[in-house]
Amino acid sequence: MGKNYPCIEINLNKITHNAKKIVNICSEIGIHVVGVTKVFCAERPIVESEIKGGVELVGDSRLENLIKMKDLKCRKMLLRIPMERNSAKVVKYSDISLNSEFRTIKALSRAAKKINKIHAVILMVDVGDLREGVLEKDVLNTVKEIITLPNIKLCGIGTNLTCYGGVIPDENNLGRLVKIKDMLKEQLNLNLPIISGGNSSSIYLALNKKMPEGINQLRIGEAIVLGRETAFGEHIEGCYSDCFILKGEIVEIKEKPSIPVGNIGMDAFGHVPHFDDKGIRKRAIVAMGRQDISVEGTFPIDKDITVLGGSSDHLILDVTDSKNSYNVGDVLEFNVDYGCLLQAMTSPYIKKYYIE
Ligand SMILES: *Cc1c(COP(=O)(O)O)cnc(C)c1O
Repeated sequence: MGKNYPCIEINLNKITHNAKKIVNICSEIGIHVVGVTKVFCAERPIVESEIKGGVELVGDSRLENLIKMKDLKCRKMLLRIPMERNSAKVVKYSDISLNSEFRTIKALSRAAKKINKIHAVILMVDVGDLREGVLEKDVLNTVKEIITLPNIKLCGIGTNLTCYGGVIPDENNLGRLVKIKDMLKEQLNLNLPIISGGNSSSIYLALNKKMPEGINQLRIGEAIVLGRETAFGEHIEGCYSDCFILKGEIVEIKEKPSIPVGNIGMDAFGHVPHFDDKGIRKRAIVAMGRQDISVEGTFPIDKDITVLGGSSDHLILDVTDSKNSYNVGDVLEFNVDYGCLLQAMTSPYIKKYYIE
């Protein structure tokens, strides 16, 4: 069967391997892994490969993706702070959600009561990144209110770092989360079972044995799918970084000058481009562009190829220095970063092929 291009080839065994590896690193220090599925739109074969690798709980930021997984046996977490008006769906399709607004938690309580379900809530605390979460000074009062609500079980506190403010998780900010749990035990005699210590940017603490004692859950997307921790962007030893390979077909290959001819205005995206004159170069155009991928996050596996740029539908490459002599119709392969993977998995124009 011939393949269609552009496509992304997904190696399920490698994903299972990575999941196993991350789950092992974490379980050694008492941490449970939530497998975060949003970057691959909760595509079933990938979710199942992560579960095969030992992930016990799956998490996604979008209800649509949780609905896709509704008949999966494992428990599901909604990662994005819920929209109040979606409360009924939130309690129906997720077992546990991350929250920071009492008003919304109250709506979840009403919705859960209606369908006679207990909905679990993790209260997000902002320990510095300025994305979601109540401020530390407001935790006690918010918790006092939450625990009065029917059909809501406050099961933990959590934080999210390195997402907006770029704050790196460390013993100080995650340590404060543990202190908050202790404070709640002392003040309210509450024993919260979960302290959710962040995303793939917290993995390096586990690798370096620096995770504050008490953190017992991480929500992991990128580290499993790309084998990378995200505090410093380091590869995680023993993980595959090529579970996903992007492939596109060359539709034009020509020798051209490296500076456009004519007066330079704005490109298709409103930027004025800059060019270095390297003389005549051999350029290839691959049939995929910004509607499918992130040009900046696309890395040719042939290291002698450089990405010059792209437009909505085209990726423009300099192949002059390659040891291969490419032709129209040849397929080029690329590694992807997180942003490109997100885009490629979300684009309906990129075919998805699974290999084992
Ligand atoms: C996306 C997301 C994660 C996972 O992030 P990675 O960097 O891919 O591990 C964890 N928690 C929340 C709240 C998220 O939105």
